[in-house]
Amino acid sequence: MFQRVLIANRGEIALRIMRACQELEIETVCVYSTADKDAPYLKNADEKICIGPGPSKDSYLNIARIISAAEIADVDAIHPGYGFLAERADFSEICRECKIEFIGPSPEAMSKLGDKIEAKRYARAAKVPVFPGTEGEIEELDEAVEVAAEIGYPVIIKASAGGGGRGMRICRNEASLRTNVAKAQQEALAAFGNGGVFVEKFLEHARHVEIQVIGDKHGNAIHLWERDCSMQRRHQKIIEEAPAPGVERKKIERVCEAAAKLIKSADYCGAATVEFLMDGQQNFYMLEVNTRVQVEHPITEAITGVDIVKMSIQVAAGEKIPYKQKDIQVKGHAIECRINAEDHTKDFRPSAGLIETYRAPGGLGIRIDTHASAGYRVPPNYDSMIGKLIVHAQTREAAITRALRALNEFEIGPIKTTIPLHAQLMQNSDFKKGGVDIHYLERLLKD
Ligand code: ADP
Repeated sequence: MFQRVLIANRGEIALRIMRACQELEIETVCVYSTADKDAPYLKNADEKICIGPGPSKDSYLNIARIISAAEIADVDAIHPGYGFLAERADFSEICRECKIEFIGPSPEAMSKLGDKIEAKRYARAAKVPVFPGTEGEIEELDEAVEVAAEIGYPVIIKASAGGGGRGMRICRNEASLRTNVAKAQQEALAAFGNGGVFVEKFLEHARHVEIQVIGDKHGNAIHLWERDCSMQRRHQKIIEEAPAPGVERKKIERVCEAAAKLIKSADYCGAATVEFLMDGQQNFYMLEVNTRVQVEHPITEAITGVDIVKMSIQVAAGEKIPYKQKDIQVKGHAIECRINAEDHTKDFRPSAGLIETYRAPGGLGIRIDTHASAGYRVPPNYDSMIGKLIVHAQTREAAITRALRALNEFEIGPIKTTIPLHAQLMQNSDFKKGGVDIHYLERLLKD
């Protein structure tokens, strides 16, 4: 096992990783920017190293500074968390060159699955259901037009190297497809340095269902079942739950097994998520593979009892996954509410600043993953998510009741948070029924 791990991240996920390391008796070194210098979570680290000023490009995204910190602190491994450098194959590669273990996939596995066209190829081979569309990158416009006519409009043009919802164009007819392919290629080249684009069927109404998987260095991979993350705004997940309500178990089981096979075929080590859209007939279509731990991993931990962060460290250190697939049973229902420092009544305007009042809920089935507390000043520099409320109960209904009870106890002020929005959503009859689609929240907010 590692002796010392550097955490190349901040906030709640840095704290989550430190806690996992402490339970594995690993020393932690946490890097921080000057914007985070007074953050209380840094006290949980054995050592902290300043890597630069607030702007991410000068600190959390600065590979040279992070590697220098790792060398000064003499760590064996780096955990990237999510966001920042987590999905950068070049970072994984540099770590390897510097003989520091990257806690996550190898640069090769990350490149295979991080590229949307490559990932689709691996997915087809592993019998993971994908969107119908062009097989690879578009070379001839006529070929794309032919494929679109076959699968039917609307279609979506996507960049192979795209990410963060960028580089996508929806086309509702042939004329639009003909004018947009070249534009999308130019845009993709400028934005991602790779002009490869492809076309696939565009699904109007869908749910977002994703599968948690994990692989080790011995050729093993298992899945930890699914999460439903359909409650979104601008492609940002707001609420996640596991398992996905109303989905036929036989169907999901097949998709889960294929997802595990997919990462196994890519020689993938670590935690990954295979994301899907699911249509009204419960057909699944793969969106992409996220090659890192996700914000919403705790709901999977709640229903399976598996510590995903700890296991990702163990497999990086060369240990075998300590479970067989049949050991992973779903127990109860879990819901996560992302607590963002935003004013949802003012178009989700960020609300950074000093937290004066902080009172957290507790009791059976409540978990709070946060770096916030009274006296903590939320810096304006980063993502607005300041924590997550995760509830677990025997049934979905009980989980919703418990979440509402917890949200009513939760007090954070005077900064604005999304707690009141979550309390409203827990009482929403459509959410209670289960199975809202990915545009539901935006429609609701418009009314
Ligand atoms: P990115 O890597 O940029 O996040 P994704 O492939 O994950 O790109 O797509 C981002 C979002 O765009 C999805 O969550 C979904 O809402 C929408 N989307 C992508 N592909 C399709 C599709 N084929 N049909 C309908 N919506 C899609």
